[in-house]
Amino acid sequence: MNGAGPWRRALVLGLGASGRAAAALLIELGCEVRGYDRAPQLASPLPGVETWLGESEAPPKAFAGVDLVVLSPGLPPTRPLEQCAEHCPGAEIHGELSLGLAALERLGTWPRTCLVTGTNGKSTVTSMIGHLLQGRSEPLFVGGNLGPTLCDHVRGVVTGGKVMPAQLVLECSSYQLETLRPVATDVAMVLNVSPDHLDRYATMQAYAATKGRVFAGLREDGLALLDAEDRWTGTLAGALEGRAATLVGGDQPPRLAANDELDLGKGRVFPRSRLALAGRHNAKNALFALAAASHQGVPWHEAVERLATFVGLPHRMALVASLDGVTYYNDSKATNVASVIASLGGFDRRFVLIAGGRAKGEDLSPLRDLLREQGAGLVAIGESAASFLSIADGVVPTRYAVDMPDAVRQAQLLAQPGEAIVLSPACASWDMYANYGERGQAFAAAVLG
Ligand code: ADP
Repeated sequence: MNGAGPWRRALVLGLGASGRAAAALLIELGCEVRGYDRAPQLASPLPGVETWLGESEAPPKAFAGVDLVVLSPGLPPTRPLEQCAEHCPGAEIHGELSLGLAALERLGTWPRTCLVTGTNGKSTVTSMIGHLLQGRSEPLFVGGNLGPTLCDHVRGVVTGGKVMPAQLVLECSSYQLETLRPVATDVAMVLNVSPDHLDRYATMQAYAATKGRVFAGLREDGLALLDAEDRWTGTLAGALEGRAATLVGGDQPPRLAANDELDLGKGRVFPRSRLALAGRHNAKNALFALAAASHQGVPWHEAVERLATFVGLPHRMALVASLDGVTYYNDSKATNVASVIASLGGFDRRFVLIAGGRAKGEDLSPLRDLLREQGAGLVAIGESAASFLSIADGVVPTRYAVDMPDAVRQAQLLAQPGEAIVLSPACASWDMYANYGERGQAFAAAVLG
């Protein structure tokens, strides 16, 4: 390997999907790998990895002689960092994404790199940029938080099963940014910042600062993109250390022009009517994607043709069915209040909202205004059902449901023909499901079944 010397002994803290991908890459790189997880048992064994399981934290001996520690996003980071400082000071600390980038760097060639973060819209914009770049004949990797993991891909590059990408488009969650060591970046963006994960961050300031880490490795001639309308943009621009950011969606291009064109400047316009995704937020997502793709070398005529064929991702206001005059939308990916408002604020008809799940400590009251304006009812599910029932109380008819089939049945009792039933939970899914995808599938199955 080029650059820094090889890692010799690594400890992977947290052995979920990302920890396992990191461990597998490190083994391939010839590193001795140790692992720790709080769970008493692993879903499947990790051959070649000495593991400590079921303890409340990794024991001191797990850290002995370690020169690399990989922190999984699920772990609250404070205690492991203290343990590293005590037992293996000087060890490099990475998250899975950061490790994948560091490993790639050590392989010698460095792809053009685009990093995407923000509270909402990350997966949409990451996939859009990937779609715009796909027309090029260069090897491309699109993933990160969105999956597949970068470490899996880099392992493939090391074993020869996968090609070295010439372009990287990476979705970065705030958890991943906490452990991201700066790498040379061509495009970095924060799409927006609104309350989320406040169970993890003490203040909004701390959360926004974590998002700002996306700019840490931006090249001299790199492109920084921020939302012209977001209240945290001024704070984030501070993270750029004097360099100018391009503001998206304001008075200057890239902007949404009054005639409903996406205007990238210099005569480059894209009629919004050609975008398959509904909602003003998606027009803005497209502006970010177009600006990024142009910077990464996609000619305008090619970007236009490709953007028009981007159809969106599952579980984001996906039409499930139209039955007896009622339309059903699966927006299971809306896991916070701002994303529900983005999806349903200004929606084209009245709706019964199915919401609730594992709450993230945010203020639910904006949903009260949304329901007052366009709501035909609320069905509350999951751990936080009582909070949702109380914000909707006296505003729209409410029901409690024990599970998803029950929620759909209750919503059907409230919806009139011409209205919609929308699963847009404003919460994480982990109280009832493994992930938002399973929750969305359960909704679709309950509607169609
Ligand atoms: P993320 O990956 O950041 O969670 P997604 O692209 O998966 O975001 O979209 C999740 C939800 O967030 C969508 O269903 C939509 O309701 C909302 N959303 C998407 N883009 C934006 C945006 N630019 N601003 C606000 N909300 C958005």
